[in-house]
Amino acid sequence: MHITVIGTGYVGLVSAVCLAELGHQVIAVDSDAKKVEVLMRGACPIYEALLPELLQRHNGKRLRFSAFARSAVTASDVVFLAVGTPQSESGEADLSQIQDVANEIGPVLHRSTLIVEKSTVPVCTCDALREMLLRNGAHEGWFSVASNPEFLREGTAVTDFLYPERIVAGADDDFGRFLLREVYRPLTSGSYYRTEDAVPCPTRKPGKAPLLVTGTRSAELIKHASNGFLAAKVSYINAVAQLAEAVDANIDEVSAGMGSDPRIGTDFLQAGLGYGGSCLPKDVAAFEAVAKRHGIDFSLLREVKRLNEGQRSRFIDKVKRSVGMLAGKRMGVLGLSFKEGTDDVRESPAIATVRELARQGVTVCAHDPAAMEKAREALADYPIAYAHDPYDAAVGCDALLILTGWKQFAKLDLHRLHSVMKSPVIFDGRNLYLPEEMAAAGFVYHSVGRRCLPVNCLPSVSKPESLRSVKSGLAGTPISTQIVQVKPRPVRS
Ligand code: NAD
Repeated sequence: MHITVIGTGYVGLVSAVCLAELGHQVIAVDSDAKKVEVLMRGACPIYEALLPELLQRHNGKRLRFSAFARSAVTASDVVFLAVGTPQSESGEADLSQIQDVANEIGPVLHRSTLIVEKSTVPVCTCDALREMLLRNGAHEGWFSVASNPEFLREGTAVTDFLYPERIVAGADDDFGRFLLREVYRPLTSGSYYRTEDAVPCPTRKPGKAPLLVTGTRSAELIKHASNGFLAAKVSYINAVAQLAEAVDANIDEVSAGMGSDPRIGTDFLQAGLGYGGSCLPKDVAAFEAVAKRHGIDFSLLREVKRLNEGQRSRFIDKVKRSVGMLAGKRMGVLGLSFKEGTDDVRESPAIATVRELARQGVTVCAHDPAAMEKAREALADYPIAYAHDPYDAAVGCDALLILTGWKQFAKLDLHRLHSVMKSPVIFDGRNLYLPEEMAAAGFVYHSVGRRCLPVNCLPSVSKPESLRSVKSGLAGTPISTQIVQVKPRPVRS
């Protein structure tokens, strides 16, 4: 099948590469000529596991890049829109990039073409897109509009695309339903998983990817409702973490106890600095705005946002309460991306925290395995120093802050770390270590929703192992195992 993907950001580039991997002929278009030039050279402009390898596999063969949407669209059966839909000042989704694409391609829709929204958009945008295309000269009956929201997560985007929990195909006519089924047939039939050089499945035995066929409005709602729900889960556990701290309980035990109920599940139930990134914050705002436009007061979403933003200021207050005046202190920072596995710093809680520390007169030295270049741009107005490794960032500091949950930060040489810091004080916004293990290693260790133990107290686990490494090794193992390994104290019934 001949496919155009418009927008080669995190979603568009991964989609284009993976659609080529599924056997389609793909043209990926971006209005950013520099990006197109980088891609044509075979370089990968973003940090994403497996993407460079797949780019190399398909670039110049089944996958081509272009800065010209019109010529690409005229040669395609299906056109995916994967442009940005950022938050506008009012909170609503800014659909100007979608409008720009409609202006560009409307006049050349002269053969049967399916236009598919992959970008996250408010409910009823398919209807609006149809109107935009018609106003721009597209012929009624020559095209159809569908919604195929994307659920990939940065850091695991390639395997998320190729091994989806579900594919949502929202179409209001047979043409749209037929073409979406054809696009994803290699996944829904399982034929891709049987090919010799298929990207290996990271978690479970591949079978067939489930396809959920809906109307366009339901598909649009599924995406916003899912992101709103995930954000609510994060804010909920962070609110419980505040209470756990107040009554000296342990949020890990609470999360394990709650998450072992399959109706709740353990995902997105880790207390920490809160959610960030280019999706959840803006999608929560856009979902509330579109509800309001349709006469619904979705006040729960306002509270989710309020709790999330408060989580960062509570973290900084904790630092202040412990170290006193922030001005004049030197602090090391581990992590700048909004989550592990990506170089994306958009709406990163880590970046917001670093800005606030710098504003309050802290000298910050930061390290991130992938996001230093993007962080330098985002923090250009602040005098931040950058270190080439975590130990370098910690040298001579009054405190070390862990702000992103990179796996490598959960496996630090604690003895070495202790030896380079001026004061062995750690604030862990991602709960990567067990308080017992850090106290035993001589650190004053503050985390989220767990007690700071007296230094040198004996660990209650025989072989200290970071919580994150325990958790990450547990994908697919029974919950009972998880509780035994994770909990430092028994869960009260
Ligand atoms: P992005 O900002 O990384 O990429 C958007 C790309 O579109 C940019 O390269 C930009 O140059 C290009 N573009 C803008 N206008 C264009 C035009 N008129 N013609 C051609 N190219 C144009 O955005 P992203 O993170 O890839 O997100 C894209 C959409 O997917 C958003 O709606 C987002 O909410 C949604 N989404 C994102 C993720 C994620 O993890 N990033 C996950 C699921 C859904």
